[in-house]
Amino acid sequence: MKRTLQCPVCGKEFTTDQNAKKYCSARCRRKANQLKARKDVLQEYSCAWCGDTFLSMRRKKYCSKECRLYANGRITRRKKVQPIIPALSLSQVALLSREAGLSYGKYVQKFQLS
Ligand SMILES: [Zn+2]
Ligand SMILES: [Zn+2]
Repeated sequence: MKRTLQCPVCGKEFTTDQNAKKYCSARCRRKANQLKARKDVLQEYSCAWCGDTFLSMRRKKYCSKECRLYANGRITRRKKVQPIIPALSLSQVALLSREAGLSYGKYVQKFQLS
């Protein structure tokens, strides 16, 4: 039975009756194997300086050159200031807004939470 698949390498749709077939062409299959061998997969890392999560092909400690320089003391500046209102979960905000007698939307607007 013919199936329509999408090639994970080039994104092209193709039909095949072979169950094991994953790529549209031998070229794409080779490319996929190369990528796998090189481990060029985007992975999520968290920056050791600012704590932001970022995607990188390679294992990296910092999200940017800037963060790396700060962390190594090349540039002196205080760490990114944390917001006064810490990140709240939706249910926490819902609870707080109820306590304050405001609607959720008003509360968020008032305290500029988002
Ligand atoms: Zn392809
Ligand atoms: Zn960073």
